[in-house]
Amino acid sequence: MFNLVIFGPPGAGKGTQSEKIINKYKLVHLSTGDMFRAHISNETELGRKVKEMLADGRLVPDSITIDMLEEEVKKNPEAKGFIFDGFPRTVPQAEALDAFLETKGCGIDLVLQLDVDQEVIKHRIAERQKVSGRADDDAVKLLKRIDEYFDKTIHVLPYYKEQGKVTTINGVGRIEDIFDKISGAIDEKY
Ligand code: AMP
Repeated sequence: MFNLVIFGPPGAGKGTQSEKIINKYKLVHLSTGDMFRAHISNETELGRKVKEMLADGRLVPDSITIDMLEEEVKKNPEAKGFIFDGFPRTVPQAEALDAFLETKGCGIDLVLQLDVDQEVIKHRIAERQKVSGRADDDAVKLLKRIDEYFDKTIHVLPYYKEQGKVTTINGVGRIEDIFDKISGAIDEKY
């Protein structure tokens, strides 16, 4: 098993780089944001519960998020490893993930931090909104999502740094160049 966390603020390129990582390393991609959006569009009970939180750019409570994530991991017993995208976003989520993976005899092998300046992120999100029309990405809610990242999510990094698992990659530049650096970091630990 090789388990990777891809970490960075909204708009840092986590989704784009995750796709390239899955193609090359055949890991299973688990994005909690994608899972919540699927629940909302399928109008499940969970979808109804979280719809407003996503629309407002607020974090979904840890217990709901952790349960959903663990269910998805269990659905992939044959996986060679996972790439966790958008999870964990809080220290309790990181602790829960470690405890859960331990029951499977594995853990997190690498945390890739995509480092992108706030102004660059705002520009990227504005561009993405034009093409995808994602409801949570409008200008007002963007600030809320970025606040959530700098208030809560950023505290996950020291948790993994203490474990010596974080590699920081400059997330500004050509997609291919960033991916080359990511591949180098993965190959060191793979
Ligand atoms: P994302 O696509 O990863 O930016 O996630 C979109 C939204 O889903 C976030 O703004 C949160 O409302 C919710 N969300 C996704 N992942 C998590 C998580 N790990 N913890 C709490 N809320 C989450």
